Amino acid sequence: MEFLPLFFRVKGKLVLVSGDTELAQRKVELLLRAECRVVWHGVSTERFEPFEMNSQMLVKTTSLTANEGQTFILAVAANEDSELDHQVLDFAHRLNLPLNVANQPEQSDFVFPSIIDRSPVIAAVSSSGQFPILTRLLRSRVEASIPHGYGRLAELSKSFKTLVREALPGRNARRRFWERELEGRFAELVFSGDEARANKHLNSALKSFVENDTGSEGEVYLVGAGPGDPDLLSFKALRLIRQADVVLYDRLVSKEIMNLVPHDAECINVGKERSNHTVPQDSINDLLVKHAKQGKRVLRLKGGDPFIFGRGGEEIDRLAEHKVAFQVVPGITAAAGCAAYAGIPLTHRDYSQSVRFITGHLKNDTCDLAWHEFVHPHQTLVFYMGLNSLGVICSSLIKHGMSTEMPVALVSKGTTREQRVVTGTVETIAQKAKAAGVRAPTIIIVGEVVSLRERLNWQGD
Ligand code: SAH
Repeated sequence: MEFLPLFFRVKGKLVLVSGDTELAQRKVELLLRAECRVVWHGVSTERFEPFEMNSQMLVKTTSLTANEGQTFILAVAANEDSELDHQVLDFAHRLNLPLNVANQPEQSDFVFPSIIDRSPVIAAVSSSGQFPILTRLLRSRVEASIPHGYGRLAELSKSFKTLVREALPGRNARRRFWERELEGRFAELVFSGDEARANKHLNSALKSFVENDTGSEGEVYLVGAGPGDPDLLSFKALRLIRQADVVLYDRLVSKEIMNLVPHDAECINVGKERSNHTVPQDSINDLLVKHAKQGKRVLRLKGGDPFIFGRGGEEIDRLAEHKVAFQVVPGITAAAGCAAYAGIPLTHRDYSQSVRFITGHLKNDTCDLAWHEFVHPHQTLVFYMGLNSLGVICSSLIKHGMSTEMPVALVSKGTTREQRVVTGTVETIAQKAKAAGVRAPTIIIVGEVVSLRERLNWQGD
């Protein structure tokens, strides 16, 4: 990190800006928003004119003296002329005055970030002066994700701080209360401008929170992390990931996604490797209940979608039994993610009108699946956990009448940078998989739609 981000109180202090340029003017305007007093050096009368009546502004035409320099807390050189900027640089260095040279991060002691101003909430984005276009793009994303009423939300919440602290002395309870309201009805009412109802709502929400004692227990977030690419997480998933105290995760959750977990959260790997369940399901269920009862926010992070071959149902069943609060956040299931990234539409008006998700995890290699239902025209089949049974799956489909020419795709580590796709037919794919050394996790897509990949493979692998 080349620059340390800080929020600096400049109100009422003197800042030197040098330059008769538009860039200098933009800095002046920004500094005035932060309520500092600006000494504008080297500015022409014409450019200074709109600021003339501003009591925060001083214009300086003569050269600067060291004595004056002592009164500045920051300096900005925005002459866009290396010689002039160099003079300011010399001046600032002699006085140990922190300096920004516009568009010259190497010569600057500080740089100006892009700002999203929802005062008192301020978000700042910077590329350390290296690539302002990137910063601007990022800024507009952040801008779009922070509602305009956020500042008002912060102010209104502040006015309730003492009341909430008195009503809820426990820190955990307070945090849960605020998190619920700042993401919930209270925030929505503030954003819609109805502050009277927002106030009323917060009062009654606090009362019922205290009465129901809902603050003493934690909550479990059962979150689908998708197939691997972290960009496929939902906003809600990301928000809950960021606020977890304890994380129980599976092997299938990618490293990039685990990196989003707060550094101080306790992370428990509960495995789920085929035939090597690091922690048995029953113990996972118990762990969830135990941690939530301790008042923690427990994140149960699962690959794909928690309700598709994820045993999510069993886990929340136990939570419901123990009256532990929980939320379920869907994730992009492997079939959808892998198909999209492999250029295989799972349905298509001309080729397939339905799609089936099937577990390929066959007990003792027995084929007690409804094979006759699978061999159906215009249907796509997606087998999860089927790599080890690939041979049995294909021969069973053929035995039940599927054409030996039916296209098949294996997608391994789909949506990640290591994604691999092997295609063939139900007759050839098992052999091809062996030759290619296909590894888990892999899904098997069977159906005519697979042939569309030739044209639609946008990833180009
Ligand atoms: N709940 C998960 C599925 C868990 S079962 C979901 O909705 O996706 C585990 C199986 O999912 C694996 O055996 C494999 O078949 C499939 N799978 C999960 N992630 C995958 C990935 N990134 N690429 C290919 N297959 C994947």
